Amino acid sequence: MRAAAGHGITISDAPYSDIGSASRYARRPRGDYAQLIQDLESGRFGARVLVLWEGSRGSRRSLEWYTLIELCREAGVRIFITSHDRVYNPANWRDRKALRDDASASEASSDETSARVSRDMSDIARKGHPHGQAPIGLRAVHDTRTGKLVTWEEDPKYAPLIRELFDMVRRGVSIRGATMQMNADGWRNRSGNPFTDQHVRSLLKKPAYAGFRSHHGTMYPATWEPIVDTETFWAVQSRLSGTRKGARPGRAGHPFTMTLRCGVCVGPLSSFNPTRPTPDGPRYRCHRKGCVRVAQAPVDEFVTELIVGYLSRADVYEDLSRRWSGASGELSDVRGQLAERRANLAELEGAEPATLAEARVIARSIETNESEISDLEKLERELSTPPDLLALIEPGGDVRGRWEATPLEVKRRVARLLLVPGVLGEVRIRKAAHRLEPATDRLVIRRD
Ligand SMILES: [Zn+2]
Repeated sequence: MRAAAGHGITISDAPYSDIGSASRYARRPRGDYAQLIQDLESGRFGARVLVLWEGSRGSRRSLEWYTLIELCREAGVRIFITSHDRVYNPANWRDRKALRDDASASEASSDETSARVSRDMSDIARKGHPHGQAPIGLRAVHDTRTGKLVTWEEDPKYAPLIRELFDMVRRGVSIRGATMQMNADGWRNRSGNPFTDQHVRSLLKKPAYAGFRSHHGTMYPATWEPIVDTETFWAVQSRLSGTRKGARPGRAGHPFTMTLRCGVCVGPLSSFNPTRPTPDGPRYRCHRKGCVRVAQAPVDEFVTELIVGYLSRADVYEDLSRRWSGASGELSDVRGQLAERRANLAELEGAEPATLAEARVIARSIETNESEISDLEKLERELSTPPDLLALIEPGGDVRGRWEATPLEVKRRVARLLLVPGVLGEVRIRKAAHRLEPATDRLVIRRD
């Protein structure tokens, strides 16, 4: 600290080294900056002068910088900025102004750098070029002459494993089950260790496998060939989003809630847990008016038998695939629209309005886009149910086992699709004829 010595300042304590990472865009924790603020606030700072390499190192966020200036002022600490070769006294308003102006200038330049970097990044993404390390199953292709990364390609060693993984999960195998299977088959990750559930879950979410380059949630067609087909990739995504909300595959839950109907008013039945424990546990109750109540367990058992029995029939698979053959075309259509809206949204969110009027227009467009996206997402969930269902009952499979392993969310959607007059029939619960009438005697199935 030669500069400090020239001003007759002695630095008594270890310097606060990490102050430079205080930029708004820095992702590292700003350890020493927080420490410095804390020390100034608590009076533990101890020294008379705070030495900084340059003003912008104090903090690139103006607000934090102003806080720092105020704290130094209160503590009677002067600020020596080595690159300015100057001591500032925050108690002096001219010095305070100089320090503030310096911070605003450096904040502007930090904004600029960040905007430039992210522009470059999204350009690369838009062209579908790879970024970072290739996920397991893909590998980097380098230019033999320059050594530069050209694209990614299928890694023949691991790609079959990835395909098998997606197939397993699409068939309804849980992530836990798939991981155990992979490890049992002797597969190891690139560091030679067994796969973990977490790693496997993250692999299943990589758009790279379906030939997409993703950037801030927007997907662009990639320069490399997919190793998993788009249909499978999306079926797996819908399965993953179904299990994410706390619904574990195989957990009983309430798969038929809001699908079964009241025999009196034809409104939906919802499940509820009686406040006092009853011998037959949770019940269904008419959601609108409470016309009927019934023990849930025997009803669920009966309806499950009904669904599994139906889905196990040889003719049903063919019948259902014919019925929904159009759905997959419509589904990819919806997904295309979704990708476009999401790209729009990302662009709008990154826009820098010049005037207040422009800002208002952008805000409105963002709102419209968001509501369109949520509608499309709902449609996507509905349209992806038939493919989910067909995967569940592929001929030759164990329908009951698969049904039990199916995430609650998918069970609900499948039940809603099947328990209608045109397919399996609508299930209604009529009022009990007497207090002890068995629940299953009260089921009425209405078909066309
Ligand atoms: Zn009712």
